[in-house]
Amino acid sequence: MTTSSFVTSAKQLDMSDQALPAGTTLLLRGGRPLTPDADWHDPPQADIAVANDRIAGLSRGFRLADAGGVEVIDARDHLVLPGFVNAHYHSHDVLAKGTLEEVPLETWRLYALPPQYPPRSPEEIYARTLLGALECLRSGMTTIQDMLTLYPYEERHMDAVMRAYAEVGIRVVFALQYADRRGIETVPFWKDTFPAELHPLLSTAAEPERKLDLIGHFEETRLKRPAPPRTSWALGPSSPERCSTAMLQRTTELARRYDLPVYTHIYESRGMALQARLTLPEYSGLLIRRMAEEGVLDRRLNFAHSVWLAQPEIDLLAEHGAGVVLNPQGNLKMKCGIAPIRALQQAGVRIGLGCDNCSCSDAQNMFVAMKLFTLLAAVSDPIPGPPQAVAALRAATQGGADGAQLGGLIGRIAPGLKADLTLIDMRDPTFSPLNSAARQLVHVEAGRGVRHVLVDGKVVVRDRRLLTLDAAAAAADARTRARKIFARI
Ligand SMILES: [Zn+2]
Repeated sequence: MTTSSFVTSAKQLDMSDQALPAGTTLLLRGGRPLTPDADWHDPPQADIAVANDRIAGLSRGFRLADAGGVEVIDARDHLVLPGFVNAHYHSHDVLAKGTLEEVPLETWRLYALPPQYPPRSPEEIYARTLLGALECLRSGMTTIQDMLTLYPYEERHMDAVMRAYAEVGIRVVFALQYADRRGIETVPFWKDTFPAELHPLLSTAAEPERKLDLIGHFEETRLKRPAPPRTSWALGPSSPERCSTAMLQRTTELARRYDLPVYTHIYESRGMALQARLTLPEYSGLLIRRMAEEGVLDRRLNFAHSVWLAQPEIDLLAEHGAGVVLNPQGNLKMKCGIAPIRALQQAGVRIGLGCDNCSCSDAQNMFVAMKLFTLLAAVSDPIPGPPQAVAALRAATQGGADGAQLGGLIGRIAPGLKADLTLIDMRDPTFSPLNSAARQLVHVEAGRGVRHVLVDGKVVVRDRRLLTLDAAAAAADARTRARKIFARI
């Protein structure tokens, strides 16, 4: 095979005789898929038949003689992964990547989405959404959980986001971020020493002054209608400390009525954990206990960060089936700390991986997240073992899918599931010699090997090039808009 032989004639690859499943539209030939039951260190070769948006079947070799009209992708020398699920991401600051360094989270929050920023334009929102999705696709992600702050909310901004996702062709689990407690109210112990003129800067990322009942509006305009293709809805209360009990209860009621996943932030910094320990004596200082006792903790919840969870809180998450989404890049850059990775695993808590904001993380790169996940377990629990590479891959795929309540659709390679697939070129030195596919994916690969990406059975990235739109033009447009923004600040 040569690097240009993306599509090979059926006759050239015909090497076996199992009948193709009815309705096959595309065939991945001879790759090494990481199916749930395979040895991910040494996955065997298998063909994957795709019928429209779904995986129709897997075989050691499908018969191609009668496969007229079926597109065949030569996947020999490629690992085939379930597309990564970026389970925590915010598209609102895509244009701010690389702008900040050496600041802890609390300082970063003063710069993230300050309310006095000039209003955004739909064109800028469209451009940044496209650019972010493009980076995610090129690094092998097929699904992103966008927890988006649109402040102040405008319907045309929301439409611009949806249009960008529809055009780029990525799958999105979309949640608007909201809160109803002012930023200054979330830091009672520092309130008096925090200069009054800076109070407005202490944004919660979703201020309560907005006139709109955002959740009600979201329900009326989106939840009650069929979601756009490749889109599923979620709810995004910013954090239990930034939301009243009433707002969390309303969120839970809505989540249960529509069976929606819920994404929120918890214990990102040590200060946030200290805040809970000092202000919630009736719950032993534990936010998760407060939520359990208020009846708002259930399997639909995903807690981003979870760096400073106490063991009783980890046990409560496991008991209620709630999950975490770890974001090791952002946690390190923002000087937040390291999540209790081993304790979460031992308790059986569902774990997804995310890449968080572009201004604090900054790369949307699941290979970096997986590698840090495996390495940081040595700090969170510095005793030998267990191996983490397979666990990291499962978190980056199945864990994120299960957290989105989409485990029956994505996150795994199996007949009947969506054909959301990422092909990694093993002819790169990264995989020579091939000692363990899983370990080399996690410890050696950094994204260079991502060659083809399929979403919903369609090739969206082919030979490292986006097919759905002009990526260079999208990036150029985003650069122009970024220059204008930073010239104003
Ligand atoms: Zn976040």
